[in-house]
Amino acid sequence: MEKKAFVTKEMVEDIVKKYPTPFHIYDEKGIRENAKALKEAFSWNKGYKEYFAVKATPNPFLINILHEYGCGTDCSSYTELMLSDAMGLKGEDIMFSSNDTPAEEFEYAAKLGATINLDDITHIDFLEKTIGYIPETISCRYNPGGYFSIANSIMDNPGDAKYGFTTEQLFEGFKILKSKGAKRFGIHAFLASNTVTNDYYPELARQLFELAVKLRDETGCDIRFINLSGGIGIPYKPDQEPNDIKIIGENVHKAFDEILVPAGMGDVAIYTELGRFMMGPYGHLVTKALHEKHTHKEYIGVDACAANLMRPAMYGAYHHITVLGKENAPCDHTYDITGSLCENNDKFAIDRQLPKIDLGDYLVIHDTGAHGFAMGYNYNGRLWSSELLLKEDGSVQLIRRAEQPKDYFATFDPFPIFEKLNK
Ligand SMILES: *Cc1c(COP(=O)(O)O)cnc(C)c1O
Repeated sequence: MEKKAFVTKEMVEDIVKKYPTPFHIYDEKGIRENAKALKEAFSWNKGYKEYFAVKATPNPFLINILHEYGCGTDCSSYTELMLSDAMGLKGEDIMFSSNDTPAEEFEYAAKLGATINLDDITHIDFLEKTIGYIPETISCRYNPGGYFSIANSIMDNPGDAKYGFTTEQLFEGFKILKSKGAKRFGIHAFLASNTVTNDYYPELARQLFELAVKLRDETGCDIRFINLSGGIGIPYKPDQEPNDIKIIGENVHKAFDEILVPAGMGDVAIYTELGRFMMGPYGHLVTKALHEKHTHKEYIGVDACAANLMRPAMYGAYHHITVLGKENAPCDHTYDITGSLCENNDKFAIDRQLPKIDLGDYLVIHDTGAHGFAMGYNYNGRLWSSELLLKEDGSVQLIRRAEQPKDYFATFDPFPIFEKLNK
């Protein structure tokens, strides 16, 4: 599929008069259409709910848009809970799927009435000791181990993942939780990441539905929801076919009708915790070409760096690049596109075929709407960029200002040097 930017050169030339590059910009129209399509795809399930994985894009303006479509939040830390609380989300709108969880985070999640999704069997005792009781609604994260494969092709390696209860622990855990007063149970599993296939959710659903029937039969627990979690991917590369959420919803429905309905479990709610799928394609990192360098290779240095988008440096991830105004020019140059960090992995693209880039050209780095800004950091004293929202009416709203030196130095504030730095 051809990758088209949702901003043009003219739009960016206008935006930079107010908000200089680099910045992340999000496409409200795309976010809304996708959220609507997801809601429709699972509308067959009465209790269906998406809990947006806050860690993917922790911006309240964006999460508020999703909230209009009935989405809650999936939190994994204290500050993510704080954000949900400040946004006015109620307990039933918050899923707390964390691991290696500090006591104060369980306390806070319980205080908010969030649904707690336990990552380990030892957390049953830890939670009970921490908050003094076991909540009536509780969920456990499942990890069957081994490889997760579809039609003999390996998708991911849960056996190597730190998360979740083993099968035995899950049966044991449900019994213990029931004996301690839990009444409504959920099962959660996240077994493959960034899957670009319509088969992941239906296959996962089938496994979890069968497990749910066995758990109900063996433990007598009342299973109220099955959380398919995240993992639906996006086509970062132009030759990848995007997932079709309608087909995914239909095939989960089929598995539901084949397994849960005949077992008398047709009222089980389906939950999802999508992050990447909800926001990934609807974000761009926009950056300007500052330098060209001709040495052993051809380099274009831009004003963004890996501190604004870590995925290429961290995983060698592909992010498509469009040179604005040159959308139709031939890709007859080979470049490494670099940031300024003193780290040689600070490259947004390596040996990428692109049109000839001139200094001052604006580059769009695609698919940065999830796990993009959120994974930023301050190495080399680089500051966090602004985040902008391209509204449906074409206007642009600042939804997070760029970090300034005073923010970077703020944690020195018990020390005398703070005053000097902020003169
Ligand atoms: C990261 C995460 C998600 C979201 O994953 P995506 O790949 O962005 O869909 C959902 N649930 C949990 C528990 C996670 O850790």
